[in-house]
Amino acid sequence: MRFLVTNDDGIYAEGLIQLASSLTDIGDVTVVAPENERSATGHAITMHFPLRVRKVKLPGLDIDAYAVDGTPADCVKLGIDKLLEEQPDFVFSGINRGSNLGTDVLYSGTVAAAIEGCIMGVRSAAFSLLLGDEMDYAYSGKVAKEVAKIISSNDLPPNTLINVNIPNVSEEQIQGMKVTRLGRRRYSKNYEKREDPRGRTYYWLAGRLIEEESGTDYDINAVNDNYVSITPLHFDLTNYNMIETLKSWGFEKETISKAK
Ligand code: MN
Repeated sequence: MRFLVTNDDGIYAEGLIQLASSLTDIGDVTVVAPENERSATGHAITMHFPLRVRKVKLPGLDIDAYAVDGTPADCVKLGIDKLLEEQPDFVFSGINRGSNLGTDVLYSGTVAAAIEGCIMGVRSAAFSLLLGDEMDYAYSGKVAKEVAKIISSNDLPPNTLINVNIPNVSEEQIQGMKVTRLGRRRYSKNYEKREDPRGRTYYWLAGRLIEEESGTDYDINAVNDNYVSITPLHFDLTNYNMIETLKSWGFEKETISKAK
């Protein structure tokens, strides 16, 4: 099994080093990851600047590792297109420092990297460890190996990735894995209004979580109940239920011309 490992916390992040290290037990690993932290950059790609690549040595690991001065999605695209000798069997992203649950997956660079892997025809998964006083990624590394084993022996359809969130509790407290759907998270008082030393106003995103949609099959509930949450995601955003409805609204009958 050949793995491309990436993340959005930056190439020297502890979670990435653990993920790469765990996966070397079961396959060949190449790391292509952002030089600097690029959390919450979503699926951004770099178009108007060149990308510079630097080969680096990761602590305790004897594997090829490339630091790219771009986004997580850049790393996957460039890695598969140019840096890796062969197409990888898997793109694994993470282990992110903090959860990627519910609607937050849309902002996530970690998840975007896995989506990019899917777009490029590679089976992909994203891994995130919930924030806690201590961040010990060892158990999450074991989870990643288990996920690799399960998806390699089953038929993961193209365009589908696995989003994994791991509760930040001791291994003994973990209740197991649970297959879930995305929940919904809402934040209030998103921005703090402040003043800079020259008296000018600025705003800083603070984001206090006020509401989480509840239901036993949601990812958010699973991790709250100390389950490892496993969510299948796809990125066809089409709302199929609305196709016939929109036709009935007359969109296809309207002719928009200069005369109108
Ligand atoms: Mn991150």
